[in-house]
Amino acid sequence: MKRLNRRSFLAASAAMSASMTAAPALGAPTAPGVPVSPKKPAPAPQVAPRTGNVEVVIVGAGAAGIAAARRLAAAGRRFALVEAAATVGGRCITDTTLFGVPFDRGAHWVHMPEINPVAKLGPQTGLDMYPAPPGQRVRIGHRYAREGEMEEYLGGTVRASTAIADASRKNDISCAQALPKDLGGWRPMIEFVLGPFGCAKDLAEVSALDFAHSAERDNDLLCRQGFGALLTKLASGIPVELSNPVTRISYAARSGGVEVETARGQFEARAAIVTVSTNILSAGKIKFIPDLPKRQLDAAAKLKLGSYDHVALELPDNPLGLRPDELVFEKSDSTRTAALFANVSGTPLCVIDVAGSFGRDLAAKGDAAMFDFAQSWLTGLFGTDVGKAVKRRYATHWNDEPWVLGAFSAAAPGGQPSRRVLMESVNDRIWFAGEAAHETLWGTVGGAWESGERAADAVVKSLGRKTG
Ligand SMILES: Cc1cc2nc3c(=O)[nH]c(=O)nc-3n(C[C@H](O)[C@H](O)[C@H](O)COP(=O)(O)OP(=O)(O)OC[C@H]3O[C@@H](n4cnc5c(N)ncnc54)[C@H](O)[C@@H]3O)c2cc1C
Repeated sequence: MKRLNRRSFLAASAAMSASMTAAPALGAPTAPGVPVSPKKPAPAPQVAPRTGNVEVVIVGAGAAGIAAARRLAAAGRRFALVEAAATVGGRCITDTTLFGVPFDRGAHWVHMPEINPVAKLGPQTGLDMYPAPPGQRVRIGHRYAREGEMEEYLGGTVRASTAIADASRKNDISCAQALPKDLGGWRPMIEFVLGPFGCAKDLAEVSALDFAHSAERDNDLLCRQGFGALLTKLASGIPVELSNPVTRISYAARSGGVEVETARGQFEARAAIVTVSTNILSAGKIKFIPDLPKRQLDAAAKLKLGSYDHVALELPDNPLGLRPDELVFEKSDSTRTAALFANVSGTPLCVIDVAGSFGRDLAAKGDAAMFDFAQSWLTGLFGTDVGKAVKRRYATHWNDEPWVLGAFSAAAPGGQPSRRVLMESVNDRIWFAGEAAHETLWGTVGGAWESGERAADAVVKSLGRKTG
């Protein structure tokens, strides 16, 4: 997901003339073979404590958990990092077995490298980071939008974003209510780009204030080995207890600490940093004793995850004639639309992103419906029988991932202050972190990372107070 607004207008305008020329052929490797079942990359060997006394237990080894662990390690604190899944990374995970090339099942754009802590750490990993091409292209039927049409669309996007920001200063209504009435034939596409594509929800479900607070996300890096691979590298050397769900956190202990029960044992600690998604919190998959205060439960409910999935198609020999990493939208006339991220890092991998209520309904119908939509959508736009060109294919189902249950958070109208509530500690024993606990970088890996660092700093400060 990206957020495309004011800066996009400039970037896309600059890119427009270049995008009118023919696309070069790709020097992409084509991995041979038949469809394979999804396998996640093998975890790095790590030895972690399974039970016992530590100062802090970190629940979840996604971006926030890894960041918190690095911070605590740097502060010389004893901690356990406990992860339910078999790998680290959470919603930022790269698979290399499905297509023989890196496929990011979740996040792929490293947004705003100038302020993104993960981008800043990238060079230390030795992985290949490079700028994503600026701007986007738009299909209108079988052709690309002309320069004047791109100006209309980009101008409409800027006006829509400005109207949402203006409305949010008066009242926190939904983004849909704030949209200008005169977006004409561009309205469905603008609604898709700002809503499902940018926030994983339809604009009617997104708080104007939350949208206005979020930082622009239109200047990105990509990692040739995958964003998930980058995160895994940043976790190397940190002991993680994998495949070990936390089932219960008791913060009633007279000792003034927490007891954290996992599938394989129990930890006693002075504090816990909980980085699970808001949908996992709301689903009650971790039992808190006593129950979490209503304030925190309400906050999680107002920051529910939206729906965002990738339908990945291997299209050898570049049948769509696109450049590496091109982003293509459609001038659509309904919500039944998608975004195309083409020839990822110069490979034959093309990713069709479906999101919001349409994406949710489609994903619920299963793989066959997702493949059918993606192939017929591309065929309709490019006039090439994409079904015949597809070699291997795979669709994500983030709403069904048992340890995530969705894509990323966008506040419901009136729900923006919930982000700050999630940043409060519960009795100085439990701290929440994760993408939802960030006011400007919510829904991003960089935001999750910063929130993990913030929670770790707060815990270190609190531990210092308790010992001092
Ligand atoms: C399809 C998709 C595309 C995206 N695109 C981008 C993008 O291009 N750029 C970008 O910056 N962001 C993107 N995002 C958002 C980004 O991936 C997330 O914001 C970020 O990865 C969230 O990190 P986190 O640490 O908050 O949560 P998570 O990654 O969800 O980490 C939480 C961890 O907790 C674990 N867990 C859950 N329950 C338990 C339990 N009971 N016990 C122990 N562990 C538990 C989970 O397994 C998980 O590993 C995308 C997300 C999706 C789904």
